[in-house]
Amino acid sequence: MARPQIETFFRKLLPKGKRNLLYGTVDDRVFLQKEHRCPACSKPVENDKLKDNAFVCYHCNHHFRISAPERLRLLADNGEYQEFSAGLSTLNPLDFPEYEERYAAAREKSGLDEAVKTVVCKMKGREAVVIVMSFQFMGGSMGSVVGEKITRAILLAAQRGLPCVLFTASGGARMQEGIFSLMQMAKTSHAIALLERTGMPLFVVLTDPTTGGVTASFAMLGDVTLAEPEALIGFAGPRVIEGTIKQKLPEGFQRSEFLQQKGFVDRVVDRKAMKDMLAFLIDAHLTVQGAKK
Ligand SMILES: [Zn+2]
Repeated sequence: MARPQIETFFRKLLPKGKRNLLYGTVDDRVFLQKEHRCPACSKPVENDKLKDNAFVCYHCNHHFRISAPERLRLLADNGEYQEFSAGLSTLNPLDFPEYEERYAAAREKSGLDEAVKTVVCKMKGREAVVIVMSFQFMGGSMGSVVGEKITRAILLAAQRGLPCVLFTASGGARMQEGIFSLMQMAKTSHAIALLERTGMPLFVVLTDPTTGGVTASFAMLGDVTLAEPEALIGFAGPRVIEGTIKQKLPEGFQRSEFLQQKGFVDRVVDRKAMKDMLAFLIDAHLTVQGAKK
């Protein structure tokens, strides 16, 4: 059987609302545009209404994955931000076959230049360095450019004395860059340690999905860790873990709400309440800083 036929066959075996699970690496909205149904509740949704609702299903509160420009449109005052370190691109350090072609195709398809955007913007008048990852670009994978941009952004926050907000969305390290990809874990973690010395806070927001090397480095190093509802957050995926330990995992394992219960996540916050929450956290931090002086 050809691959599309096999996929159709398995898709039919799943309950209706779960059929897109086979397309784990595909952006939910690609699915949405095709079928015009919410993948969580299977009810029909209109793109325009969804956009007005911050890409959250207005039937069941399912949070669709969004790219960095969409996230910034929701967060930044008047949708205005100043981007920096744009235009960096990989040098394919391992000379990995077909990487350059895939990279170019990802750029064209997503309209993004890399899996992360780093900006300075205001949120309800509070200035901050904001880092936003996009799962749409090669699964949000962390290659040398992603690591470099995140490091520069964190150092800029340290230099200018600005709070830093980091939205994660990643399948982990970028396999085409091998060890260069893994080195970014140490580099970004080191930059965060420097930021901490300046007394400036790092607020991390985990979005669906945050896994692999990103979870194993900067995603878990925030002073406050927020998450969007029902985001998948973990190192290895649940199926891999189940296969390894040969045990059934508890209900909701690796989802934001479960991780909040276990203390890994401080608060699960709805997308529409995120800007208010970040403004509150920045104010609270600056008040404490002011009191110390
Ligand atoms: Zn829904």
